[in-house]
Amino acid sequence: MPDALADLLPGLIAFRRDIHSHPELGFQEHRTAGLVAAALREIGLEVHEGIGGTGVVGVLRAGSSDRTIGLRADMDALPIQEATGLPHASTRDGVFHGCGHDGHTTMLLGAARHLARTRQFDGTVNFIFQPAEEGLGGAREMVKDGLFDRFPCQRIFALHNWPDLPAHHVATRPGPIMAAADKFEIVVKGKGGHAAMPHVTPDAILAASEMVGQLNTIIARRIPPMATAVLSVTRIAGGHAHNVIPAAVTLGGTVRSFDPVIQDRIEAALRQVVEGVGLAHGVTVDVTYDRYYPATINDADAAAAALDVAMKVVPHAFTAPEPAFTSEDFAFMLQATKGAYLWLGQGAEHGESACGSPLHHPHYDFNDAIIPTGIRLHAGLVEAHLSA
Ligand SMILES: [Zn+2]
Ligand SMILES: [Zn+2]
Repeated sequence: MPDALADLLPGLIAFRRDIHSHPELGFQEHRTAGLVAAALREIGLEVHEGIGGTGVVGVLRAGSSDRTIGLRADMDALPIQEATGLPHASTRDGVFHGCGHDGHTTMLLGAARHLARTRQFDGTVNFIFQPAEEGLGGAREMVKDGLFDRFPCQRIFALHNWPDLPAHHVATRPGPIMAAADKFEIVVKGKGGHAAMPHVTPDAILAASEMVGQLNTIIARRIPPMATAVLSVTRIAGGHAHNVIPAAVTLGGTVRSFDPVIQDRIEAALRQVVEGVGLAHGVTVDVTYDRYYPATINDADAAAAALDVAMKVVPHAFTAPEPAFTSEDFAFMLQATKGAYLWLGQGAEHGESACGSPLHHPHYDFNDAIIPTGIRLHAGLVEAHLSA
């Protein structure tokens, strides 16, 4: 198969670097989506645009079976200033493909080009290019917009490049693979007054400080020891002068978890802790708690099938021993249909140091060397599920 991809690669690498140079933030991927749609039409796919905002679906059929599969890539960039200094670096200030979605889009387009000419399968493949993975829920919007009603997928798969794994290695796991992401904001309100007269002014600063300490006991004391979760207070804002007790202080942070029961318990404990501390200090609290991405839960059979495919097409494929605490809005697609999410290694051993930089780092770059590996994985998933 490597020879079968050789002629596709120069065009795909050029495509990847072009969209890297012209990154677009979530729901603004008009140029990228337009290029994807045009490329899919050029190879004869049925193309649907504007799904869930700027989402694109390309449909490829072969044979007569009614079996279906979906493959998903994300197209959006991040609000980060790129610092790689590479020739194909971003031309847009403060916008950057720092998570490799340019590479995901390219690998999926490559798989469509490859499968459109080999057609070694029997059924329907839906190539799903989603907007706004980075915190804005593009997958949720596509599902809401009828993605799986219009394009039924018995199985769905997605790849994410993974700098922590050596290039071409693949890992996945049954059950949770990425965390649920919640964010919270707590506004602590006193009334404000002179710093020299604390006895007449509830102290929002002191109350907020105690809340930070107490919030950090929730994971240690309020959930079972074998359960896994993170709570981080990441923001504290209030006050402006040395002689004024401020009227309000704002705390913000994030919670990551894998089990909805644990998630419920943490939210309830968070509310109880801040209300209790608030009461003790005579301040009031307003809590906003937003569960923006659910946990990404792989179907056990789909993950096993994906691992079987990976073992045939990459040098090393294994069951990841633990999930990651980052989150992924492919979770919404996995709530709607069965499938699995896979990590594809792109580690630094490949020579270009940028490929080993962490995701979301200003020096990160996608490793073009793994494009053919990603195509083989996508094609293998299709040929296994829709075996002719
Ligand atoms: Zn990201
Ligand atoms: Zn990403």
